[in-house]
Amino acid sequence: LKRIVIKVGTSTLTKEDGNLNIDKINKLVREISLLSNNGYEVVLVTSGAVGAGMGRLKMSERPKTLTEKQAVAAVGQVALTHLYQNLFSEYNKIIAQFLLTKADFSDRNRYLNARNVSLNLLKKGIIPVVNENDAVVADEIKVGDNDTLSALVAGLIDADLLIILSDIEGLYNKNPQKYDDAKLIKLVGKIDEDVKKMAGMEGSKFGTGGMYTKIIAAEMATKIGTNLVIASGSEPENINKIVNYELVGTLFV
Ligand code: ADP
Repeated sequence: LKRIVIKVGTSTLTKEDGNLNIDKINKLVREISLLSNNGYEVVLVTSGAVGAGMGRLKMSERPKTLTEKQAVAAVGQVALTHLYQNLFSEYNKIIAQFLLTKADFSDRNRYLNARNVSLNLLKKGIIPVVNENDAVVADEIKVGDNDTLSALVAGLIDADLLIILSDIEGLYNKNPQKYDDAKLIKLVGKIDEDVKKMAGMEGSKFGTGGMYTKIIAAEMATKIGTNLVIASGSEPENINKIVNYELVGTLFV
């Protein structure tokens, strides 16, 4: 186990009002830095640009139209990267920014270029921080959600493991927000229609993602030999446990 992609979602990075949760992000950065300093190659796929933009623009409500959202994301992406740069430098880590779009995965030259550059950075102990380039891509040419993006990135660099941190312990047999008797699934060996049904089709409260896109990401990842763990981002120490083969959350093999 050497190369790891860690994806953190909006629900982990932002507070109820949509603004960034700096404390949480700091803990996350600490865990990732420890991994990196222990010789792991780590890529961080991070959402949160809109949340960061809202903070920067002192907005108390989420942007409504697509253009407005992209504008806020453009402001926020800089703020987010700046924040990560500051936090990671506390642990002597250097980050690199990767803003990708669908074309980076569908065009062979762009794909190979993105691959070469990321592997080069990883070799230097630098942490690539990845997000979709929301400011410039229109809906139809988007990967669309960072769960899928993280699986594509895992493929790009031949990751051994993809960790998706969310606001929930893992995959439950039904939506735990709705059903009190929902049970956490520890291990999924085969992603069939039953598993997809558990995740439902509903997105998250912030519009994209939800459990369904995480299952699709798991399907993509396991197909190319990358294991995937969905775990709670509210305890960033989970990262360390997972890397040490502790069963936390849901493991897809
Ligand atoms: P993130 O922002 O971290 O990507 P999302 O909010 O998009 O997270 O997705 C996680 C949410 O998916 C959970 O909080 C939960 O409300 C919902 N969900 C729906 N079905 C399930 C399920 N079977 N197991 C776990 N979570 C589920």
